[in-house]
Order: sequence, then structure tokens, then C-alpha cells
Amino acid sequence: MKATSIVEFVRDTYKTDEFIPLHAPMFDGNEKAYVMETIESSFVSSVGKFVDEFEHKVEAYTGTPKAVATVNGTAALHTALYMAGVQRGDFVITQALTFVATCNALYHMGAEPIFVDISPVSLGICPKAVELFLDEHAEVTETGCIHKKTGRTIKAVVPMHTFGHPVDLDHLVSVCQKWNIVIVEDAAESLGSFYKGKHTGTIGNFGAVSFNGNKIITTGGGGMVLCKSSEIGIRTKHITTTAKIPHPYEFFHDEPGFNYRMPNLNAALGCAQIETIDTFIREKRVLAEKYDELFKGTDLQFVKEPEYAQSNYWLNAIICPNQSVRNEIISETNRMGVMTRPVWKLMNKLPMFKNCLVGDLKYSNWIEGHLINLPSTPKLIITESL
Ligand SMILES: *Cc1c(COP(=O)(O)O)cnc(C)c1O
Repeated sequence: MKATSIVEFVRDTYKTDEFIPLHAPMFDGNEKAYVMETIESSFVSSVGKFVDEFEHKVEAYTGTPKAVATVNGTAALHTALYMAGVQRGDFVITQALTFVATCNALYHMGAEPIFVDISPVSLGICPKAVELFLDEHAEVTETGCIHKKTGRTIKAVVPMHTFGHPVDLDHLVSVCQKWNIVIVEDAAESLGSFYKGKHTGTIGNFGAVSFNGNKIITTGGGGMVLCKSSEIGIRTKHITTTAKIPHPYEFFHDEPGFNYRMPNLNAALGCAQIETIDTFIREKRVLAEKYDELFKGTDLQFVKEPEYAQSNYWLNAIICPNQSVRNEIISETNRMGVMTRPVWKLMNKLPMFKNCLVGDLKYSNWIEGHLINLPSTPKLIITESL
């Protein structure tokens, strides 16, 4: 299939001759009203009702016992890794195919990533690849899972639900239980994606969500840590809010904390956005179905949700037969004002992670060279109407 057919389909879908982005936020509900309310009340910052309200809405939607709002998704991941007990010098196993934030968060914990392959089904971490790496290089001792050659602890696995498609979590959980490793789910892209009926980010020990402007719903910038119990959630909240002991005027902080609290202004936007998330996801799934139809019987393979999961189809993707087809489609569609792009460069190819340990990255390398992301907003807002 040629780039022109893709451009035609996309233009027909969005009914515009303007530039079409990969993803744009949608404000269809109470966004303006709630944001105005924070301004009128003057509670735009670290105090105000919308932060608690937004946390409760995310708890209800995801079925998580306690959700803690943060300034962005990277901060949520950083907090989750901290709460999961990752320490300086630990190894953390993750996928080579991810957005750099996954690795930045663990780098700033003083931990070092180990990169293993993805599953061609989910495009997220392959539990079998995790197990293969551990079988060959690790042992379980009374202090935890140890990397034999260096004696360092392998503390956690961070699966990332690529483009919203859930990783095979049952399989991953069983591997991690056997090897005494905690799971921190990078669910930044997968709000609204379910694994066997359970929301992504609620199955591992912790989950991290992002509300950046390009994600399925947005707070401008923001994130959330999903915690397994209200007790852990209360401590997580404490850590993200400078670990201050509540008092009308005294300052007392009982441990080193972060200032990762989401401002009330942003939470107001989030409250309005999550009220309409079911509609967004329904529309995104309809768009994905249309793409699936378009590419049926062509040389381009549309990436579909794994059978065990219900995906939010955050970013639609196709896989090309070879790299030159991929390059041509990307350059042609962009030239015609329809944004498409390749997937991230593998993490082990970035200068700061080039010396990290790796497993066999066969599928990661294949996908890196063959995948294209396509415009994925169900409908575009024409700016004049705002
Ligand atoms: C967006 C994203 C993040 C980080 O979110 P921010 O809110 O931008 O900090 C982390 N991991 C993945 C995989 C992401 O796509």
C-alpha cells in the first residue's frame, strides 16, 4: 500500500486539509468550568479539592485502592520505584523498546536497567525473555534475586504497555514471584487498557500513569501512582508531598520527600477529562477498527490488541515489510501534512545506556526498523471553536 492511500484515508477521517498531528487532546466536557473554578477560588496550586477528587475518580475507574497524583508520569514512576524499594546500585529489568522516561526514572534512583526483548504480540516486555535472562544470570538468595557475576540485586521488573497494549501480566507475575522480584508497571500509555478485566497498572506492586498532553486524557502535565493498599497509598502521598507532618503552622518533615504534588489547576482539568474517558476509548477503538479494515490484505500489518486484553489503542501502529517501505511512508505522509513517525530508538542504543546489560533483542530490533505510528485522535478540535 502506498503513502497516498494512507493520507487519503486519514484526511477523509478528520475532514480537514490542515496538518494532522499524531495525537491531540480533546476537551468536550467540563474542562473550562472546572479550571475556571480553581482560578475563581484562587486555589490553583498545592491546596484545593480537585486533587483529591481526581484521585478518587482514577481509583474508581481503575479499581485501585489508592491513587496518588503527581506532577508528571516520570515523577509517578520515580515515586513508584522508590516505594517499591529500588536502591542505588540495583538492577531493574525493562524492555529496550520504550520511551526514555522509563529508564530516566530508574536512572535517577541510582539503579541500572537491564534490557530484554519484547513480545511480538504485545510489543511490551516478554515474560519468557525475562525468565531466560534470570535463568542464565541470576540466583535467588536470602537477600533477594542476585545477578551472579556482579553480586548486585535485581530488584524490579518494569513492564511498559506499549501504545496501550497490555503485557502478558499473569506470566510475568509468575516469573517475578519465582525470582522474588517486584513489578512496577509503566502504565503511562495505558489508562483505559485492561488485562483480563483488570486495569493495567493495578496488577504489579505499583503502577504509574501519565496525563501528559499527548496521552489518552491530559491534565496539561501530570501523573498518578497506583498503589495496592490504602496504607501504602498514604505513605506514597506523604513522600510526594515533602513528607510533612500535618500541622497548622509548624514545619516538621519525618523523612526525605519529593515535591511531586499535582497542582489543583491541573487536577481540575483531569476531573473533567476522566468524566469523558469512556467516550474517548469507544471512539479510539472505532478508529482502530477502521485502520484494521484499511490494511487488511495489504503488505502493511496493523498492530492489534493481544487476545487476552482490551486496549485503549492510544497510538495506532502498522508494521512494514521492510525498512525502505517504512522510510518512504514516513517521509511521504509527513510531506503531505499527515504526521506519522517511527518508534523510539532502542534504549540500549542511547549514549547513557549503551553499556547496560542486554538479552537477545531480536524482536525489539525488528520492530524498531519496521513500525510506524499513525494519527490516533478520534476527532480533531478545530481551534476557532474553542
Ligand atoms: C509518557 C510516558 C512516560 C512519562 O510521562 P510524562 O508524564 O511525560 O513524564 C513514561 N513512560 C512512557 C512509556 C510514556 O509513554
